[in-house]
This record gives sequence, structure tokens and C-alpha cells, in this order.
Amino acid sequence: MTLSSGNVEQRHGGGQDGPPEDGSGRVTGSPAPSACCTTHADPRPAPPRPLVVAPDAPREDAAAPAEPTAAELTAALLRAQRRFADRTDPAALAEEVVDEVQRAGYSGVLLLAPVARSRHHELDVLAARGCTAPPPSPSTTVAELTRSAPSAVVDLVPADPTAPRLAVWGEPGPAGAPLELLAAAAGTAWCAARATRQAQLATAELAGARQLIAGAVRLAGLGSWSWDPATDRVTLDDRLRDLLGVAPTDPDPDLATWRERVHPDDRGPFTGVDDPAARTGSPVPYPFRVRTADGTERTLLGTSVPLRPGRPGVVQGLVLDLAPGDRSTGELVRLAQSDSLTGLANRSVLDVRLEEALRTATATSAVALVLLDLDRFKLVNDTLGHQIGDALLRQIAGRLQQAAPAGSTLARLGGDEFVLMVPGVDRAESATAMAHNIVRRLRVPVLLPGLPEPFVCTSSAGVAVGHECSGDELFRNADMALYRAKDAGRDRVAAFDSAMREDAEARREAEHKVRRALRTDGLRVVWQPIVDLRDERLVAAEALVRLEDPVEGLLEPKSFVDTAEDTGLIVDVDTWVLGEVLRQLREWRSAGEGLQVSFNVSGKTLEHPAFAHRLAHSVESTGASGSSLLAEVTERTLIDLSTSTRASLGELRSVGARVGLDDFGTGYSSLSYLDRFPLSFLKIDMSFVRPLGTSERAAAVVRALIGLAHAHGMVVTAEGVETREQATLLREMGCDRAQGWLFGRPVEAGRLITAR
Ligand code: C2E
Ligand code: MG
Ligand code: MG
Repeated sequence: MTLSSGNVEQRHGGGQDGPPEDGSGRVTGSPAPSACCTTHADPRPAPPRPLVVAPDAPREDAAAPAEPTAAELTAALLRAQRRFADRTDPAALAEEVVDEVQRAGYSGVLLLAPVARSRHHELDVLAARGCTAPPPSPSTTVAELTRSAPSAVVDLVPADPTAPRLAVWGEPGPAGAPLELLAAAAGTAWCAARATRQAQLATAELAGARQLIAGAVRLAGLGSWSWDPATDRVTLDDRLRDLLGVAPTDPDPDLATWRERVHPDDRGPFTGVDDPAARTGSPVPYPFRVRTADGTERTLLGTSVPLRPGRPGVVQGLVLDLAPGDRSTGELVRLAQSDSLTGLANRSVLDVRLEEALRTATATSAVALVLLDLDRFKLVNDTLGHQIGDALLRQIAGRLQQAAPAGSTLARLGGDEFVLMVPGVDRAESATAMAHNIVRRLRVPVLLPGLPEPFVCTSSAGVAVGHECSGDELFRNADMALYRAKDAGRDRVAAFDSAMREDAEARREAEHKVRRALRTDGLRVVWQPIVDLRDERLVAAEALVRLEDPVEGLLEPKSFVDTAEDTGLIVDVDTWVLGEVLRQLREWRSAGEGLQVSFNVSGKTLEHPAFAHRLAHSVESTGASGSSLLAEVTERTLIDLSTSTRASLGELRSVGARVGLDDFGTGYSSLSYLDRFPLSFLKIDMSFVRPLGTSERAAAVVRALIGLAHAHGMVVTAEGVETREQATLLREMGCDRAQGWLFGRPVEAGRLITAR
């Protein structure tokens, strides 16, 4: 069989004038194919009829059969429904449909299911028989098949987009019956069989899952209950009935009766809709005492969750029998409610207590949330090991406990994040003062096992105070304040104010812009010249990223780079810029320009394990010269030097790139990190360059920096050179290179070269 000979009769006046397509392989503008497979909702009670596409020439050996009538089609459908309706195995069904089509006089048959793999519908071959050519490849679309097909392809498009779509391709024998009849019948049967099969599978899966859960609950020795507010019935399972001495034939109790069995002091969690768990969805384990049928008391450990958190509805619970006098009872409860490393409360307990505190809070007796985060704790784990990290966390927890006021809840959320929740706060200022006190206490050096010297670990805190708000909202506010404290340089306290919300909003907006730019090719690179100070010859150019915003135009990094750092999107931004840098480098190379190119890499990017690999691969595959690359890293990167960052820097060097320090002199007084990694160049920050010519002190500092860099064998570039006087002074001081508006602003690549 070939897919090109025209040996099938023309149907529906088809050929090149066949029904139009919408580009997805779907055929439009034709009558509805069948009861379950229809293209359009047609108000007239039209006979169900398949779509026929792309027959290209009349058959020579047989007279064209008459168009099937409505009655014929209906009869065929009914026949198919009878014949195939109880079939549930799709593979067997496909074979039977093919049988039927062959019996009707088609020598070759393909049963195809177009599936939406990409934008187009591609084909799955369900069954193929007697075809003289290989079946179409899966990447063929229905549209392509019908274009190239010599014979009829019947494409059944269901009205319901989730229903399976089916195509039948038939290579007719001498006495071919109308393919539409068979296809319509096959389509109807196919849909019915698939639906039955899927329902059967889903039911079996559900029954299996139920059995598994019930088995697990039994194995764990747990009892279970559920309360439905619609009926107010508490359904107890066999195990719980057994524990409580409730006969299997006794009716399920209502909530009030169930509560009566529970000890009055332990009834808190059984308040139904008001149950904190019912609103938050946090399963907080709680011990409770309950009276059994014979009047004795049992202690159970319970936990409950709403089936649909946040909405009043069915609540489900599990209970574990804690035998009376069992010494492990207290231990179990403690374990369930606390953080295992520090013994502080865990998140679940905090959530419940916070909701409870907020329920009774007022303007003069509000709830304060202090979110605490240790500064650079990751570095402690990375450099000193996890054991020391754990010991530090335990000591910090101890100090926090000493500082926590009575009635407060102190919890560890995980890692180095702690929370203090204080109810009954009269003024926001008192909460801030308390946070200052805590941060001060934590700053005191600690002695850690195995460390010869006391260790100083600072912390940052965010404070939020509220009364008419949810726990979530208070958490979000404290989190924004913590972000501000970290952003302002760590080791400090920040209290939430409404400007922070606007700030957070701006960051969300910036994040959205970066994501969109990455998705829609909205990033650009501009180039700023770097000159050799001896002769002011252009020797390099720095790639600086820009964001092309559809509304605001070209945005500078200050409006989006920080957010990209915070969200980790900087990895994608830097990777994109690097690609652009390599492309440009190659272009300049082939134009005979021997420029070096400088690019900025964030510490976050270097820490990403895939970056180094991608870099090596990109350099290799673009054929760019690695030795023309100058990678600019910040002091922060070298201070927080982790193993993965070191590996990335090593990879940069191994492709021939030079690694240097950007913005040198901003912020850090210790220069010890200069020895941590071999650096090839250093860029003196413009804040040192700007006062040159007006301040003798500034000149002395720059001279010292140049000397220091040269002593380390580094090439020195001065940033932000705007005046001739600055350039002259820098040259006299022995500075090697300069970059700044005096020599050129950042421009597109083409303009950089022409401005030369
Ligand atoms: P940078 O790497 O220190 O880049 C130099 C910045 O100083 C550029 O700002 C440049 O336009 C500006 N500048 C240069 N000469 C002068 C001058 O004479 N006077 C003044 N006032 N400014 C001058 P830009 O392009 O806004 O970039 C700001 C920062 O954004 C960069 O500082 C760099 O830290 C970051 N950045 C830029 N592109 C990227 C990137 O692709 N990845 C990463 N991670 N950061 C980038
Ligand atoms: Mg730079
Ligand atoms: Mg810089």
C-alpha cells in the first residue's frame, strides 16, 4: 500500500475541496459524525455521520457507492452498539473493529487515535492489518495523513474534548462498503468501551486504595472516627468501638454524645466546626481521656484533619490507645508535639496556639509573632559540619527559652528558623523591644563541642503584631519584616509596617517581569567599554543585562536583579547572559575583534550545580575562546564560598576564563577571603573612584588597593570613571584599566565597535 495512489472513491465531494482544518488536525465545517463523536453541536436532529477527509480521485473499478442515508447510519450505530457495547478491553476491541472493517471489504485497515502530544494531534496506531505500506510514524499528524492519504481517512472528533478521538483509515478492496458506516460504528463502540473500562479501572483502584489504608490503620493498632456536620454523626470504626466497649450494633453517636464521653478537660479538640484542625488542616496530636462503656477511663492519643481544609466539612480522626500507666505515654505526646532536635514546639502546635490566641486577641491585648533566622547558618553546616550545626541550634533554643516570656509559645520551624508567639501584647513597640533583647542575647559567643574558640552567631528577626487577622497573615507580615532585616545587613530586628507590603508587592511584580522576560525572550545585553589606561585603547567590554518590559521599556538591573537573586531566577538570567556573551564573542572573533568580555555571575548561580556543567558545554559547543572570558564575582560570593561555588569557579578556570572580583571595597573590611580562591583581576568600586581629585584620603585608599591587588598578581580595573582628572590620577597610581562614562556608556554590541 502506498499513501499516494488515488484508488478510493470520492466522498462528500471531497478531494482538494475537503473540509477546512483549524491547524490542529481537527476537521471543521462538516456534519456531526456520531452520537458520541460530534464536531459541533447541531441544533437539527441530523443523522450521525463521520467526517471524511482527503480522498483524491474516484475509484475506477467500482461505481461510487451511494451516500449513506440517515437510516443506514443509525442502523449501523445500533448494530455496533449491540456488537461492541460490552467490550471493555481496548486492545481486543481495536482488533474486532479491524475485523469488522475487513469483513466489509477493506483489505488494509489502520485504526488510529490522534493524541494531543504537542500542539498538533499526532497518531497512535491502535491496530493495523493488511496494509501494504508501513503505518504512519507517531509524529504524523492527522492533517498530514489526510493530505497524503490516497483513500478515505475518517476522523471522528468527539464533542467532549476529554473523550478519545479516533481515526479509521481504510484501504478498500473491490467491494468496499462505505467506510463512514464502519467508522461511525467503531467510534461509538470505542467511546463506550473506553468509558466502561476507565470506570472499571477507577473503581478497582479506589477499592484497592481503601483496602490499603484500612490495612495500614489496622496494622498500626489505630482506631478511626469521622464526623459529618451534615448528619452530626460520629462514625466509629470497629477498633474504636472495641476500645470503648461500643457494640457493633449500637448506632453512631452524635457529636454532643461523643463529647460527653471525653474528659471535660480534654474536650477542646472536639468542638466540630470550630476545631482548629478543621480550619487549618494541621494534624496536631492531642492526648485525651475517654470513658468506656463499663465506666473505666482510657487515654488515647488523637489527631484529626478536615477532609477539605479551610471549609467546614467532614473531619476525620485517628486514635492510638495509650495503655494506662504506660510510661511511654508522656514521651509519645511530647514527641508528637515537639521538634525532635531542640524540644521546642513544632509548627503544628504553633499553628493551633496562634489561631487560639488570635481568637481572643484585642487591640490592647494583641498577638506578636517574632520570626528569627540565624545569619549564615548554612555556612556553619557547610564548613563545621552538621553535628556542630545541631549543637549550635540546641544552644540557641536554650537561650530563646530563657528569653521567652510566660504564656508564649516558642517553636522551631525547621533549619535555623525559630518563632516566638506572644499573646497579650499591649503595644507593637514592646514586641520590638523584646525581639531586640533576644537578638542581643543570641549574639553572645557560644562554646561548641570540638571548637577551640567561642563561636559568634548573629541572628535577624522580623516582628509582626496583630489582632483582627489570620495566623497566615501575621506569619506573612513577620516574614516580610524578617526579609527587611536580612536585606538591611542582618544581625538586626525589623518590625512590620505597611510599606513592607508595598515593597513585597513590588518584588512580586519584578519577579513576574523576570519570569515573563525569560519566557518571551525579553532580556537584552548592553556592552560597556573597558580601556587600557596607558593608551585608552578598548581592550574589553562588560556585558550588562537589561529587561525589555512591554510597558515600561528597557529596565536597568537595579529594578529586577535583587528580586531575581531572591527567587533564584538569577541562575536563568545569568545562564541566558552567558549564552549571549559566547555568541557575541564568536561574532567579534570572526570579525577580527580581539576583545575580552566581562560578565557578572551571581553567587546563587555559581552555587547551582548545573551551571558549571552548562558553562563548559556552552563554551565547547559554541567554539568560543574561554580565555577571552572574564567572570566577575562579588565579595559576598567569596565570603560564602561553598563547595559547589568553588567547583563552579574551578570549572570557569578550567575552560580558560579568568575570575575576578567586582565592586571591590564595598562593605567588607576583612581581606582574608582574597586568599580563598586564585583571582586574576579586581575592579575597584566606583564609590572609591568618585572622590578622586577632591579627597586626599580617597586617593590614599585607592593607591593602597592598587598596591594590594598588584601584590596578589591581579590586574586592576577602576569602575565609574567619569572625569579626565580621575583617569589621569588612576593612571599615575598604576591602575591598569578603567571603565566609566568618560570612555563610554553601556551600548548595543554594534555601537560599541563603531564608536571605537
Ligand atoms: P557592575 O557589574 O558593577 O556594573 C557596573 C555598573 O555601573 C553598571 O550598571 C554600569 O552601567 C554602571 N556604570 C558604569 N560606569 C559608570 C559611571 O561612570 N558612572 C555611573 N554612575 N555608573 C556607571 P548597571 O548596568 O545598572 O548594572 C548594575 C549592576 O547589576 C552591575 O554592577 C551588576 O552587579 C548587576 N548586573 C548587571 N548585569 C548582570 C548580569 O548579567 N548578571 C548578574 N548577576 N548581575 C548583573
Ligand atoms: Mg560587573
Ligand atoms: Mg562593579
